[in-house]
Amino acid sequence: MILQDVDKAMNINKYANVIVDISHEKVDRLFQYRLPENLRQTAKVGDEVIVPFGRGDSKRKAYIMELTEESQWEESRIKEIISINEKAVSVEARTLQLAYWMKSNYGSTMITAMKTVLPVKKKIREQQYRCLQCIVGDEILTELAGKCHPCRQIARRRLLQEFLSVKELPYQLVTGKMNVAPSTIHSLEKQGVLRIVTTREYRNPLMRSDRRVEKPVLSVEQQQAVDGIFKSMQETEPGVSLLHGITGSGKTEVYMELIEKNISMGKQAIVLIPEIALTFQTLMRFYARFGDRVSVLHSRLSDGERFDQYERARTGQLDVMIGPRSALFTPFMQLGLIVIDEEHENSYKSEKMPKYHAREVAEYIAKRDHAALVLGSATPSLESYYRAVKGEYHLYQLRHRPQNAVLPQVYIADMRKELKEGNKSLFSRKLKELMLERLLRGEQIMLFINRRGYAGFVSCRECGYVVKCPHCDVSLSQHHANGMYQKKEQKLVCHYCGYQTDMLTKCPECGSSYIAGFRAGTQRIEEELKKWYSSVRVLRMDADTTRKKEDYEKILSSFAAHEADVLIGTQMIVKGHDFPNTTLVGAIAADLSLSVGDYRAAERTFQLLTQAAGRAGRGDKKGEVVIQTYQPDNYGIVNAAKQDYLSFYQEEILYRRLAGYPPVQHMLAVQIFAKEEAEGMALAQKIADKISELLSESQEKEQTQIIGPVPAALARINDIHRTVLYIKHESKQFLIACKDWIEGMTKDMEQGSQMLQFDFDPVNLF
Ligand code: ADP
Ligand code: ZN
Ligand code: ZN
Repeated sequence: MILQDVDKAMNINKYANVIVDISHEKVDRLFQYRLPENLRQTAKVGDEVIVPFGRGDSKRKAYIMELTEESQWEESRIKEIISINEKAVSVEARTLQLAYWMKSNYGSTMITAMKTVLPVKKKIREQQYRCLQCIVGDEILTELAGKCHPCRQIARRRLLQEFLSVKELPYQLVTGKMNVAPSTIHSLEKQGVLRIVTTREYRNPLMRSDRRVEKPVLSVEQQQAVDGIFKSMQETEPGVSLLHGITGSGKTEVYMELIEKNISMGKQAIVLIPEIALTFQTLMRFYARFGDRVSVLHSRLSDGERFDQYERARTGQLDVMIGPRSALFTPFMQLGLIVIDEEHENSYKSEKMPKYHAREVAEYIAKRDHAALVLGSATPSLESYYRAVKGEYHLYQLRHRPQNAVLPQVYIADMRKELKEGNKSLFSRKLKELMLERLLRGEQIMLFINRRGYAGFVSCRECGYVVKCPHCDVSLSQHHANGMYQKKEQKLVCHYCGYQTDMLTKCPECGSSYIAGFRAGTQRIEEELKKWYSSVRVLRMDADTTRKKEDYEKILSSFAAHEADVLIGTQMIVKGHDFPNTTLVGAIAADLSLSVGDYRAAERTFQLLTQAAGRAGRGDKKGEVVIQTYQPDNYGIVNAAKQDYLSFYQEEILYRRLAGYPPVQHMLAVQIFAKEEAEGMALAQKIADKISELLSESQEKEQTQIIGPVPAALARINDIHRTVLYIKHESKQFLIACKDWIEGMTKDMEQGSQMLQFDFDPVNLF
C-alpha cells in the first residue's frame, strides 16, 4: 500500500527543476521549467534536456533534477523545456541518475546526493607535478646506502634503496608515504645523486625502462578464480563474484590479472581499497604492472587534483582508478570491472548522508554498465557470504598461501586463569615469553586493542561474565551522561530496546567485586611494557599520536624501517600492512569488540582477529599470535584462532536468522536529532505509531518489527539529543517505501529544531 502511494505520485508531474551547468561550484542552483504535454509521462530525473536560458533565451543543455506537480512561480513566468535528448548517455546524465538512485535508496536531498557522486570543479591554480630522478648507478647507490648512519639516516637509506628498483619517484610520494624529509632530498640533490624535475603534467611515477615486476605463475586456485570471473566478464550480465581467500593467499594477483584482461578488452576498472590500506607497497604493485594508466584517489588530493583525476578517467587517459569509497564515482566510459578489496571493511559504509554502502552502489553501477563486480576478503561480510551461499554471487576460494607460506600459530590466553594464578599484568605469561624471544632475536611485535571497546561494556574479571540485556542478546553499556563518571549516576543501558538498570557492584554470577567497565588504553600498554622491559623501543598509533593524516604513514614507515621493536595501537595497525620482520602479534583484549552492544560485534571480532593473525610472519619467518581473552570459548575467538571462516559463518548466520538481523532481514534506522530530548522522542513515537497504524490494515504487519524509539548509543552530542527507531523487514524495498513515507510525513514539519536521517542496515552504533 505504501508502495502504491509512491507510484501514484509519479505520473502527474508538470514541472521540472533543472540544473544548467553541473561543472559549476554552485550546483545547488535549480531553475524551474514547464514540461510540454508530450513529455510529462516520459521525463525522468537525470534526463538531459534543452532549455531556453537567460535573457536571450539561448539554448542550453540542462539536466532534470526534480519533477514536481506544482510550480513555485506564476505560470506566465515559467519557460518551457524545448526537448529531451533521449539518446544522451552522457556521463553527466548517468551520474545524475546515480545520484537520484542514491537519494531514493538511502534518503537524502538530491543536492547532497549529487555532491557525493559528482566531482565539482573549483577554480584552482595549476597543479605542478614534481618528481625525483635518480642520476647515479646502482653501485653508487649501494655504497651510499651502506654508509648511512643506522639510526640517524634511516630515511636517506630508504630513499637510496628505493632508487635501486625505481629510478623516478613522485616528490609527494617520497615526502608522504615514504616519509623522507625535504632536507634529505635536497642534500642528495646537492651531492648529485638525484635531480628534482618539475612538469605540469601528471606522469608515470615509474619510467618505462624500469624493470617490470615479474608476474608470478598463478596457483591452480588463483587461475580457477581468474578463469571463472573472466568468463563472466564476457557475458552481458557478469554479475558479482566473491573471492574468499585467506590472508596472503594472493587475491591482489587475481585482481591484477583480471584488470589486465579487462584492459585487453578495451575496458576500464575501478579498484576500491580501504584508505588505511592504500600503502606505498600496494600502490607500487599496481604502478609496476600498469604504469601511467593507473591513478590513485587518496584523501590528500586537493579538490582540484581530484577533479583532474576524474577528468583523466573521463577522457580515456586511464585504465585503472584505485582509491577508497569515492573512487566508485570515477566517470569511466567503458567500465568493465569493479574490484572491492577487503570488502568486509566498515569504511565502505558512508556515515554521512546519503549513508550508502559502496558494495551496494558498486552493484548498481556494475549492473548499469554490464561490468563485473569482484568482492575480495579473507573474512567476507556476512552479507556477501550469505548471497554467495544463496547462489546470488559466484564464489571462488583461495585456501592456500602461494609457495606454501605457512599460516601463523595462534595461542589463546585465558585471562581469567592468569588472574586466578596471580598474574595481574595486562600481558599473559605466554605473550611475555614470546615477546622476550622476539626482543632477543631482533624481530618485531605488534600489540593491539580495540578502540570500539571503549563504549564501556561491563564484565567480571574473575569469571568473564558480561552483563547483558534481558530482552536482547547484546551486552549493556555503561552510561554516563555528559562524560561525567560519578558512580551513583552510572546506569547500564541496552542500545537496542532501551532497557536500563543500575550499575552493578558485584558479579551476579560469582559474587566477585572485580566487576567493572574495561578500560585499557594504548598508553597503559606502553607504560606496562616499558616497566617490564626498559630498553624496548615503542611506537604508539592511536588517536593521540595520529592527529594529522601523515602521522599514520610516518609511524608505519618508521616501524617498517625497524626503528622500533613494538608497535602498539588500535585495530588500525592490523589492516593491510606487510611487515616481514613482525613475527608476533598480540591481541591484548580480544573481548573488547565482542561486547560492544551491537549485533555485528562477533563478526567484527572474528574479522579483526583473523586479519591480525594474518599479519604475523608474512616473510619467510614463521609467525605467532596470542589472543588474550576472558571468553576463550566464544565462537568468534575460537574460530579466528583456527582461521575457520566457515564454522564462524554457520554459527553467526544462525544467530542472525533467529534474531532477525541483517543479512537475513533488513533494518532501517530512523535517526532523529533534536534540541530537546522529549521533542525527539515524541517525533519518533509519532512515526512509530503512524507506521503501526498504517500496517494494521496491511498484510505486511506480521513481517514487520518496530523497535524503539530508544535513545541512541551516543544519546547526546554537542547538546543535540539523538533518538533512534528501528524497522525490520525481510524486504529492502519495503523499508525504502517506509522511508519515502516517513519523508513525506515529516516534510511539512521540518525546518524546526529537529532533523531526520536514515540508515539502512547500519554498521555502526548510532
Ligand atoms: P592477498 O591480497 O590475498 O593478501 P597478495 O596478493 O598480497 O595476497 O599476495 C601475498 C604475497 O604472495 C605477495 O607477496 C605476492 O606477491 C605473493 N604471491 C601471490 N601470488 C603468488 C603466486 N602465484 N606465486 C608466487 N607468489 C605469489
Ligand atoms: Zn564473576
Ligand atoms: Zn535490550
